[in-house]
Amino acid sequence: MSNGPWFPTIYSDKCDGCKGAYKCVAYCPNAVLEIRDDKALVVNPLSCISGCSACASLCPKDAIMFPSKETAPHSTTKKSLLHRVVCRGCGKRFSADRDIEYCFDCENKAKAKGRSTK
Ligand code: SF4
Ligand code: SF4
Repeated sequence: MSNGPWFPTIYSDKCDGCKGAYKCVAYCPNAVLEIRDDKALVVNPLSCISGCSACASLCPKDAIMFPSKETAPHSTTKKSLLHRVVCRGCGKRFSADRDIEYCFDCENKAKAKGRSTK
């Protein structure tokens, strides 16, 4: 069922190192990322957890991208894997165990208006 590897791409032209905070590097528990030349760099792509996108949700510069979730190896997109999400509707940060872009409040508002957030 595996369709391909899962790891982030960091756009170095966007990354400013969070002005020294290096939020993604500090957060990642799997040492996927390191600081090189004042920017974050993917150094251990195979250590990335498929389906995780926590580092991207922390990035203030939108410098971290992932392949589409459909290409993630199926076996590791566990429902129990929590990741941080920034709601595209209201900007609220929350944790989710599924592929979701909107918080429950925004989802419910969209449903009430007959729109889909998918
Ligand atoms: S997606 Fe998760 S495991 Fe992969 S680099 Fe980001 S924080 Fe680390
Ligand atoms: S969180 Fe974003 S801006 Fe900060 S170091 Fe990582 S990629 Fe660069």
